[in-house]
Amino acid sequence: MPTIWMNGQLVSDKDAKVSVFDHGLLYGDGCFEGIRVYNGRIFKMTAHLERLYNSAEKLTLKIPYTIEQMADALREGVEANGTANAYIRPVVTRGYGNLGINPFQCEKPEVIVITATIQLYPQELYATGMKIITAKRPRVDRRALDPSIKSLNYLNNILTKIEAVKAGVHEAVMLNSEGNVSECTGDNIFMIKDGEVITPPPDAGILVGITRNFVLQVCRETGIPCSERNFKIEDLKAADEVFLTGTAAEIMSVTHIDDLQIGDGTPGPVTRRLLGEFRTRTGENAPED
Ligand code: PMP
Repeated sequence: MPTIWMNGQLVSDKDAKVSVFDHGLLYGDGCFEGIRVYNGRIFKMTAHLERLYNSAEKLTLKIPYTIEQMADALREGVEANGTANAYIRPVVTRGYGNLGINPFQCEKPEVIVITATIQLYPQELYATGMKIITAKRPRVDRRALDPSIKSLNYLNNILTKIEAVKAGVHEAVMLNSEGNVSECTGDNIFMIKDGEVITPPPDAGILVGITRNFVLQVCRETGIPCSERNFKIEDLKAADEVFLTGTAAEIMSVTHIDDLQIGDGTPGPVTRRLLGEFRTRTGENAPED
């Protein structure tokens, strides 16, 4: 059973509890991160912690630890669980309050770091690629809810995930209110057209993924043309290759959208090359980042 870091202490998972009056539970008021540990190294830790602190700041939620203390908490959690390959879930909730929505009556956030394992997609899909659908439900408008806040309120994504699961697939691509491609329920989306790697820009209403940024960085370093720009679902369906990125998903080829085949229906050469780079850079001899 995993050991949990909670408010500065390591506790057993059965002692890691929050109140029923916690506004994280009552209102989804809080934020979180999902981070991977590969071969004992916490992948892109600083980028993830910066995003956590940004999410909290946008919620006017003050994390009562410095970023360096949180980094130590992550390391402690990994060490206590003795896992060289793991998934870390830092969670910050608004904390204990009354039944009113007002966050300012909550005095102390709960800060939790869960270290566990995750497997989102069946392993064989990394060789075959996967099918996704176009969601009927739009991505929540970015003016209504800033998508760069990785908040505890994932209902737009969860309702869309239900659509996907009912359609017999793992993911659904959401369009924004302008009709442009935005992202999937838990992954960013990329397409490759005529050798260029293209992904929607932040103002398409996406969470700016750490894995997404890593892929763009790899493209720039290895001379693969890439750009961030808006495109329509028709462009995505007419792409040569499509793939998803995410901390849990890593890089996942998409071979069909709404039963329409992409390219030759198998993971394409650029996607395979990027997955290869990802594996090398998270592998045993990878440098610290
Ligand atoms: N979009 C959404 C909505 C997400 O929840 C996630 C994280 N699972 C991503 C994109 C991918 O972000 P990252 O690469 O930082 O995990």
